[in-house]
Amino acid sequence: MFIDYAKIMVKAGNGGAGAVAFHREKFVASGGPDGGDGGRGGSVVFVVDDNLSTLADFRYKRKYAAENGENGRGARCNGKSAKDLVIRVPRGTLVKDAQTGRLLADLSTDEPQVIAKGGKGGWGNIHFATPTRQTPRFAKPGLPGESFELILELKLLADVGLVGFPNVGKSTLVSVVSEAKPTIANYHFTTITPVLGVVRAKDGRSFVMADIPGLIEGAGEGVGLGHQFLRHVDRCRLLVHIVDVAGSEGRDPKEDFAVINAELKKFNPDLADRPMLVAGNKCDLATDEQIAEFKSFIEAQGYEFFPIMAAIRYDVDPLLNRISELLSKLPPVLHYEPEPEPQKPVDAFEKNQVKITKQDHIYLVEGEWLLQVINSVNFDDYESLQYFQRVLIQTGVIDALREAGIEEGDTVSIYDIEFDFVE
Ligand code: GDP
Ligand code: MG
Repeated sequence: MFIDYAKIMVKAGNGGAGAVAFHREKFVASGGPDGGDGGRGGSVVFVVDDNLSTLADFRYKRKYAAENGENGRGARCNGKSAKDLVIRVPRGTLVKDAQTGRLLADLSTDEPQVIAKGGKGGWGNIHFATPTRQTPRFAKPGLPGESFELILELKLLADVGLVGFPNVGKSTLVSVVSEAKPTIANYHFTTITPVLGVVRAKDGRSFVMADIPGLIEGAGEGVGLGHQFLRHVDRCRLLVHIVDVAGSEGRDPKEDFAVINAELKKFNPDLADRPMLVAGNKCDLATDEQIAEFKSFIEAQGYEFFPIMAAIRYDVDPLLNRISELLSKLPPVLHYEPEPEPQKPVDAFEKNQVKITKQDHIYLVEGEWLLQVINSVNFDDYESLQYFQRVLIQTGVIDALREAGIEEGDTVSIYDIEFDFVE
């Protein structure tokens, strides 16, 4: 069965904790700090695998967790970092945060995409030794790995999408112009899986054509088959609308044409503006008058019309050449841009508390909510830094540090962020 939608949980590994340890050796009275750092937790990384064509693998396995980093140990031993967990998906898979609907990645290129970042390992106490602080009795905990509930949605990457009612000859056309072999049969909905075929036009150019399963009336509202498949039309650069001109099966080709167009528009208004060619199939069953009448009906609406007999590949080349010509002028297949994580308003954090530990002019600040803040701040960006400062001031973290006795020049250490305190 063709599965193009899945919901899964991913969890990146936590960072290992840094160690508090002191050098010990026989006859050496008291050695310095030598606690190593924790290892990094594994990230959850998505990559495209062209051997996959559906999201079926995700129906049965829904939880994916990368391993945690190891804790640091004494004798300057750093904990081992965990391996990334790699999840393979078919090309064209969109990864979204299920909670917010935010698009995290479009797996359309071969570039691996880190979806959940592994937590950084905490520093061991060895890092905190200074001439005035020779016995740091603290180390940093590892940071937690990110976790998400994800929606995976496959949106095929094809240049041309064939649309039309069931049984008009879409699969037949793909089968005669490419190597792809979709099921063809004289009953409705034989195609339950979109099939991609590579077509080589006479001019030497090639393009990808998608046989999209038959649409039916009401598909735009999710009635029956159709809606599920409409998403695959979404990023086609060009549509070819196939109609049974003969109106075999007692259909009215003009009405069919209007119904399908209305369904496309209902699903996504942009689709109404997508360039579209119209192919009138089964010309062998139609009278010349039927063909001529339908042709003028189509052309009157501003579309180009191509009469064909897909089953015997008759007059298919003019259609292919025109497709190829149009594609050379159309923008490339749409890639979706990931959406940035919105920053929470400062007052969303106001009721949160922090724990402050102090030793020798270093103030360790902890609180799980702070991790959320840190994760959403880009420390290379001025605006973002200002936001971070505002959060610290308005939530009372700075006041709490003053109460704890912080002085100008002391170090504030919040998870993996460190800065000098200046009034
Ligand atoms: P789809 O549902 O749109 O994919 O339609 P299919 O490609 O499965 O074709 C449905 C039926 O129409 C099959 O029995 C085909 O053999 C037949 N068919 C396809 N093209 C032609 C044609 O040019 N002339 C005639 N008479 N039948 C055709
Ligand atoms: Mg079909």
